[in-house]
Amino acid sequence: MYDRKLMRRFVRYIAPYRRLIGVVLVMLPIMAVTKLAQPWLLKTAIDNHIVTGKLEGLPLLAAGFLGLIFAESAVTFVEVYLLQYVGQKVMYDIRIELFSHIQRLSARFFDQTPVGSLVSRLTSDIEVLGEMFAAGIVTIVGDVMVLAGIVGIMLWMNVKLSLVTFSVLPLLIWVAFTFRNWMRVAFRQVRARLGNLSAFLAESLGGMMVVQLFNRERDEAREFRRLNESYRDANLPVITWDAALYAVVETLSSVAVALIIWYGGGEIVKGTLSFGALVAFIQYIERFFSPIRDLSAKYSVMQGAMASLERIFGLLDKKEEEQEPAQLLDPPPQMAPVAAASGRRTPGSISFRELWFAYHNEDYVLKGFSLEVKSGEKVALVGETGGGKTTVTRLLSRLYEINCGSISIDGTDIREMSLQALRSRIGVVLQDPYLFTGTIAYNISLGDPEAAKRVERAAAVVGADRFIKLLPKGFDEEVRERGGNFSAGERQLISFARAVAFDPEILVLDEATASVDPASERLIQQGLEGLMEGRTTLVVAHRLSTIRDADRIVVIHRGEKAEEGTHAELMAAKGLYYRLYQLQFKE
Ligand code: ADP
Ligand code: MG
Repeated sequence: MYDRKLMRRFVRYIAPYRRLIGVVLVMLPIMAVTKLAQPWLLKTAIDNHIVTGKLEGLPLLAAGFLGLIFAESAVTFVEVYLLQYVGQKVMYDIRIELFSHIQRLSARFFDQTPVGSLVSRLTSDIEVLGEMFAAGIVTIVGDVMVLAGIVGIMLWMNVKLSLVTFSVLPLLIWVAFTFRNWMRVAFRQVRARLGNLSAFLAESLGGMMVVQLFNRERDEAREFRRLNESYRDANLPVITWDAALYAVVETLSSVAVALIIWYGGGEIVKGTLSFGALVAFIQYIERFFSPIRDLSAKYSVMQGAMASLERIFGLLDKKEEEQEPAQLLDPPPQMAPVAAASGRRTPGSISFRELWFAYHNEDYVLKGFSLEVKSGEKVALVGETGGGKTTVTRLLSRLYEINCGSISIDGTDIREMSLQALRSRIGVVLQDPYLFTGTIAYNISLGDPEAAKRVERAAAVVGADRFIKLLPKGFDEEVRERGGNFSAGERQLISFARAVAFDPEILVLDEATASVDPASERLIQQGLEGLMEGRTTLVVAHRLSTIRDADRIVVIHRGEKAEEGTHAELMAAKGLYYRLYQLQFKE
């Protein structure tokens, strides 16, 4: 039942290629006829020519036989090719859909899902669907035609002998169905454990440097061995059922042949069955069992495909609360001029009102946090680690949805804007900037044509051009794996330039200077000034020296606003800020 639901959904992906599938379906009866006709020709040759000694008709029959074989090969070629062709197309389509779906999932989803397991959905799970086409699932329809044809012809030739032969059928059907269920369960295990394996691989390989520096190779290898073993072991039941099913079908087909020889031999002696008919019977029964035997192979592929489909559709059905509502996909028209006018415009004001937020259940990270940031103001968020500073910035970009309260920009609730419009107004610079494989210019513009026009100017504004110009290829210098060929400070400057190139009216800097050495800090500080010019800015700062001249400093303590004021005011108040400041300057 459940299979049928999965299949019905899967068929929708095949629907665009129904013409090609139609061609295959038309070929199936042709194929069935060529298969059914061969034993019949053999019977005619034996009974009408060989036994009676009329040899003159034999060359024609032999030629007919050859013709049928050629026809069968040609049809097989077209059929196999077309099916795999459609298979590739369908796999391509599903990959595209899955990828763009994953792109729209929320930060909450990615918190819980290892990247490796997503990679395995997009690669190996989809590959299994391809195997389904390769194994010729559609040709099952043709197999059924052949099976029905054989039953018909056999009954027509000799009812009693047919009934004797088919006495093995109930057992065959029972075995096939029972094994099928067992295999399904086993396959689910296989796919799940392969997912675990890929998730582990992605993480371990990604963190190889840490693994090596801390001598964790052996433990990592042990864990890998454990996962590898569990994957291998999950495959064992599948192989067992597969082999057993094959063996049982093989045995039953031999039993059927034995029955034909035993009972059919008697019929020949009695004169109720011709010699040619006996030979045809044996040939038919082999043709009857071979698709059933192949069916066992097709079953295992099918079961694998079903398990994969379940996982693929399961992921496609993941709807997270933060997902873009469909009707908001286009940026509202009033947003457009903001992005267009890179010259004079008023940067947005932000208001956080009574924010309550928890990553898990009732574990509130923010407890009634409120803050008003005026247009063009530079506000610093400080406080001890884990206080909720980063969380505030994430909520502003709607990476997570607040549980209670509201955030608005220029008086408009951010939930009423499309994610695209919201995020195009906010530029975020993270502590650890993520660089992609590509040139520096690409890393600044991220391929956006508007941003691309501003790459060099943006780099100059933040002072990144100074080091870029010294590179052999300048802006066309390649960034290797996540920017490993640049220093932390250089990476940070590139990410500043990125923020400027996108020209946001609101800027969020999350500990952007924390990972930079004191020598480049001055450089970064200058870059920051260029970056913040003419924008509303929220700075999360670890080094209090960097925010001394902020318009306002807000101290967040355990999810609540503890203090607020200018540097001088807060120092005079001798509260939390004063203590944090003292701590840093004693060092
Ligand atoms: P800060 O930036 O002030 O150091 P954060 O906003 O990053 O603090 O974190 C506040 C609290 O939320 C911490 O207790 C942290 O453990 C928790 N937290 C942060 N991110 C997540 C997350 N993705 N999932 C669950 N808990 C998180
Ligand atoms: Mg933080």
